[in-house]
Amino acid sequence: MLNIVIFGAPGSGKGTQSDNLIKTYGLFHISTGDVLRDNIKRGTELGGIAKSYIDQGQLIPDDLMIDILANVLDTHKEEAAKGVIFDGFPRTIAQAEALEQMLQERGTSVSTVIGLEVPEQELIERIILRGQQTGRTDDNMETVKNRLDVYRNQTSPLQAFYQEKGLYQAIKGTGKVEEIFADIRRAVDAVK
Ligand code: ATP
Ligand code: MG
Repeated sequence: MLNIVIFGAPGSGKGTQSDNLIKTYGLFHISTGDVLRDNIKRGTELGGIAKSYIDQGQLIPDDLMIDILANVLDTHKEEAAKGVIFDGFPRTIAQAEALEQMLQERGTSVSTVIGLEVPEQELIERIILRGQQTGRTDDNMETVKNRLDVYRNQTSPLQAFYQEKGLYQAIKGTGKVEEIFADIRRAVDAVK
């Protein structure tokens, strides 16, 4: 199995590059942000809980998020047989440790972590533009500041966590989408 964690700050291009990865490698894509937004749209109980965190730029609590992920993995065993692109998960060390355990229980592991690196000013510009174009309610100036703080404090320590395991591959996340993807491909092919 080829299990790719696509890692980076909000607005770093995880979703965009996940689409390219799906097309090239035929893997199953799990975007935790998409799962949560879908629940909000359908008005589920989970959606109600998620909305209050997302609109403040906070993370959904780890235990809930880990349950959601395990559930997605279990309900899509067939599609996930070749491997999974994890987009937006893990976002904390606790989530990374849970992921390790979940994959181990399923007889597999993380193959590589693709870290999209983008300067903060560009992240802010991209997110504000996306908010204007899509109406995504957490893509506004006020929330973005919180999301970047949360990223710095809770998520960025994962870089060292995966570096120590020899799994982290840094990718320059600025420039043309196709050029960034060419770098990602090289990184993925190196572990395939
Ligand atoms: P990108 O622009 O790179 O695709 P993003 O950070 O803008 O990424 P999502 O990954 O879609 O957006 O996440 C949106 C929000 O959903 C987060 O700010 C957070 O509140 C919640 N969320 C998503 N994944 C997790 C997670 N693993 N743990 C906790 N909260 C999460
Ligand atoms: Mg996304």
